[in-house]
Amino acid sequence: MKLIFLGPPGAGKGTQAQKLMTELNIPQISTGDILRKAIREETPTGLVAKGYIDRGELVPDEVVIAIVRDRLQEKDCENGYILDGFPRTVPQAEVLDTIVSIDAVVDFELPNEEIINRLSGRRVCPKCNSTYHVSRLESEDCPACGEKVIQRKDDMPETVLNRLQVYEKQTAPLIAYYKEKGALRVVDCLGLTVEDVYAEVKKVLGI
Ligand code: AMP
Repeated sequence: MKLIFLGPPGAGKGTQAQKLMTELNIPQISTGDILRKAIREETPTGLVAKGYIDRGELVPDEVVIAIVRDRLQEKDCENGYILDGFPRTVPQAEVLDTIVSIDAVVDFELPNEEIINRLSGRRVCPKCNSTYHVSRLESEDCPACGEKVIQRKDDMPETVLNRLQVYEKQTAPLIAYYKEKGALRVVDCLGLTVEDVYAEVKKVLGI
């Protein structure tokens, strides 16, 4: 299955993608994770991306399109994949349409108030990429691997507001774009646990 996970930052796309990739045995392709790795490794792409990410802006289309184009050619993508955080603009979606035929787009919906609460309390493990809400952590150590968890710079309050505006303006138009194509499957995440959302995802995908 070739899937796109769409939705505002903090809606749980990454968590759900990790669960589904294990079950379907297909890779999760997170452009955010790829860009953060490039920044850590100080590659030319990382150097370009850093300023945009730190400000909560989108990295230029041509940069992320090149990343995804390369990644989709890898062998593990043969049986499908979950695109998590890509496309994020209509031009990215238009280019993607010329490369592959997507089976479904899952749109994770969550009100802004809840997004702000989730993102400002989000902690991530820099080693294994697990994410947590600070209220559920007993210490600063990642329960999965023991590494010290951190707060992403772009999860700081002022950047979160900017990311939400960017989402509304640049990414939300993709909802209509994929609805028109008949590919959109909406999951309303408010008040649902991770497991409940996962059950909904499977339901809307018919799996
Ligand atoms: P994420 O981890 O998906 O929230 O992405 C973190 C940041 O990476 C975003 O706020 C953007 O700056 C950048 N980014 C990730 N995916 C894309 C994309 N498809 N297009 C542009 N920028 C992206």
